[in-house]
Amino acid sequence: MPMYEYLCQDCGHPFEILQRMGEGADGLACPKCGEKRVEKQFSTFAASGNSTSTSAGFSAGAGCGGGSGFS
Ligand SMILES: [Zn+2]
Repeated sequence: MPMYEYLCQDCGHPFEILQRMGEGADGLACPKCGEKRVEKQFSTFAASGNSTSTSAGFSAGAGCGGGSGFS
C-alpha cells in the first residue's frame, strides 16, 4: 500500500497514512486535533529532494511493488 500525506485543515498538522490507491479522505481525522477536514498532499518523497524522509519511509514501508498485497 502506498503512503499518502495529509494536511489538517484546522490545525495544519501534517500526517502520513497508508491507504489503498484511490482511497479518499473519508473516515480520516487529524491525529493531533481530531479534525475531519484533511487535505491530501502529493507524496513528498516523489516530488521533492528531501532525502531524509525518503530513506526513513522506504526502510519502514518496503516501497511499492514488493509483497503480495496488491491483488
Ligand atoms: Zn489537526
